[in-house]
Amino acid sequence: ARAENRLAQSQHLAQIGSWELDLQTQELWWSTEVYQLFALNPDEFKPSFENFLKAIHRRDRDMVREAYSRSVAEREPFQLEHRVVMPDGTVRSVMKRCVTIYNAEDQPLRSVGTVEDVTSQRDAQHRLRLAASVFESTHEGVIIVDASMNVVDINHAFMEISGYSRGEAVGQQAGFWRSERHDISFYRNLWREVEQAGRWHGEIWNRHKSGVAFPTWLTISRVDDHDGNTTHYVGVFTDITTVKRSHERLQYAAHHDALTGLPNRMLLEERLGQATKRAQRRSRRFAVVFIDLDHFKAVNDNFGHPVGDSLLQEVADRLCHAVRAGDTVARIGGDEFVVLFDDIPGADQAAIATQKLLKALEPPVQLEPGEVNVSCSIGVSLFPEDGRDAATLMRNADTAMYRTKAHGRNGFSFYTAELTASALERSTLEKGLIHALAQHDFQLHYQPQISLRTGRICGVEALIRWDHPELGTIAPERFIPIAEASGLIVPIGAWVMQTACAQAQQWLEEGVTFGAMAVNISGQQINRGDLPALVRKSLADTGLPPERLELEMTETFIMTQSDAAVRQLEELRDLGVQLAIDDFGTGYSSLSHLKQLPVHKLKIDQSFVRAIPDCDDHRTISRAMLALADILDLRVIAEGVETQAQVDFLLQAGCDEAQGFFYAHPVDATETRHFMQSWPRMRSEVRPHDAPAGAFSGNRA
Ligand code: C2E
Ligand code: MG
Ligand code: MG
Repeated sequence: ARAENRLAQSQHLAQIGSWELDLQTQELWWSTEVYQLFALNPDEFKPSFENFLKAIHRRDRDMVREAYSRSVAEREPFQLEHRVVMPDGTVRSVMKRCVTIYNAEDQPLRSVGTVEDVTSQRDAQHRLRLAASVFESTHEGVIIVDASMNVVDINHAFMEISGYSRGEAVGQQAGFWRSERHDISFYRNLWREVEQAGRWHGEIWNRHKSGVAFPTWLTISRVDDHDGNTTHYVGVFTDITTVKRSHERLQYAAHHDALTGLPNRMLLEERLGQATKRAQRRSRRFAVVFIDLDHFKAVNDNFGHPVGDSLLQEVADRLCHAVRAGDTVARIGGDEFVVLFDDIPGADQAAIATQKLLKALEPPVQLEPGEVNVSCSIGVSLFPEDGRDAATLMRNADTAMYRTKAHGRNGFSFYTAELTASALERSTLEKGLIHALAQHDFQLHYQPQISLRTGRICGVEALIRWDHPELGTIAPERFIPIAEASGLIVPIGAWVMQTACAQAQQWLEEGVTFGAMAVNISGQQINRGDLPALVRKSLADTGLPPERLELEMTETFIMTQSDAAVRQLEELRDLGVQLAIDDFGTGYSSLSHLKQLPVHKLKIDQSFVRAIPDCDDHRTISRAMLALADILDLRVIAEGVETQAQVDFLLQAGCDEAQGFFYAHPVDATETRHFMQSWPRMRSEVRPHDAPAGAFSGNRA
């Protein structure tokens, strides 16, 4: 009884029942567990082979019968899985094992066997099979990695999308197909979310085996075991390259003009909004330029729309070529274009840039029926003066454009009328400069430089003067910036160099003592021209020895120069020419840079000299500059010296040379020669009241 009890208990635990069929009597015996498995009541159910067969699923009955008969006939034990239908109609799976016992005459006596409910294993297996088939047949790429980020498996779609085979991927680290599109913080946030929320989804760029990066929409899920330990991560993704492309195409179409490919009004407004924010943040300016073609309607009416279209395309093309890379050219209506000049320093530069647009449209356009001249009317508004938001700036540029139309078209106006006037003056001056070059309206004046130690004249600076036939004498401060902006400074600078060298050589030949001739050089002459070539030619043409020539370059320019410009300076030094830094103290010199530059001399700016007698700070700064020059072994000249007090201070502080109205105003060559010839030779004699009459008579230009 105890053994029977144990057996019953272990059958219950294992959920395995046992049975026995007496083949002589066809009597079937079931253990308690079998009744339990089949949910039958031992008091109501009479087990028999036929009754048992009835419980088997209709479709499995023949199979079971056949297998059993075969087993008995062939004397082989068998095991078989089949379905049974419970009294309540549910279907379960059982595993049946059976062996038949025979007597000495080989007659089957009885069959004994076990029956086990395998429904849950069956279901699990079934689910696995389903999952596996989803894994393999889905169009979405799937990648499974373990807790230490090693790839465990990828599916077919992954291989198709990424180009990697299973062999190449499995065993790799999860990031093996990462692109360089995202930074570390992107991945850090991604994994933080996976850890916290169990899941992340979003757009991520990965890399195809061929090396090409492509966008995917990816979902990463964390897989934990029963104890909450992460065992795997599953990534499911789709390739969204085509989605993105068509999205981009739609975006492009929505933001661009179909005829010219230029940004349309919508994109322009977006850019204007961005420009406003940027300019506000950095306290910069930008200009909105409204362009309306003059008489465009006539082209359409006379030649037809296709010709009008080609004209617009050509105009678009020319405008695009006339602006810088960061600027925007947009077409906002039939013959209306808008240019956004981003980050423009002021009205002057906006005027120059706008003139370039006008110039670009000047040459006649070749069209089907022949040449057509286009002109346009332009209105310009500036941020922030003429408006602080896109709409106001556009409206005001438009208003300015109508002003141009009213003034006879083909030109431009600023929204602020005074700006138009000064821009016009600029363009008058610019035209005048071209004229002046041809007509020899320029002149050089000279201002001596005095050695504080010996009292002798040690140099003379050449300063350009422009005698305008109508406007009178124009100061270099007014026209040099215009000459620089238009590039005219290169021929003008060449004229100055040639003239100054010739004058210096003439004085040398006449026996006038003056040291070296100092010539002012604009940065543009280095950036746009070949300064060493100009200097070589001028020296050769005039015969002036190189050590008699000194070049003055402003500190602001010299400190912001490229290696190429510095090489030009070195080339000049190697020629034997002296180099001086003009307006020293007004720029931002870097000491290390200063040490490397091939300069000989610093010119302390007038603003410091002017303040010398009263201002402690300026005296201190001047002393510091002198000490610095001493360490760097550079000569120092103070410019703009006007009083005895300044001379006394400079002398005492150890300054080498001085230049200014105290000694002489800049005057023309004849007067300069006269001044130099009558200048006392020794320092003891150098007191202004000793100076010869006329020494201070130069008129201040
Ligand atoms: P800069 O080279 O610093 O020239 C010194 C300026 O100070 C000259 O003005 C000169 O007349 C003036 N000056 C001289 N002594 C005194 C003084 O005691 N007190 C005062 N208040 N001023 C004095 P200028 O001739 O009007 O020239 C102005 C600037 O124009 C020059 O400054 C230089 O940067 C530029 N410049 C002149 N000629 C040329 C040239 O041929 N080429 C280039 N690229 N620039 C030139
Ligand atoms: Mg100078
Ligand atoms: Mg100066």
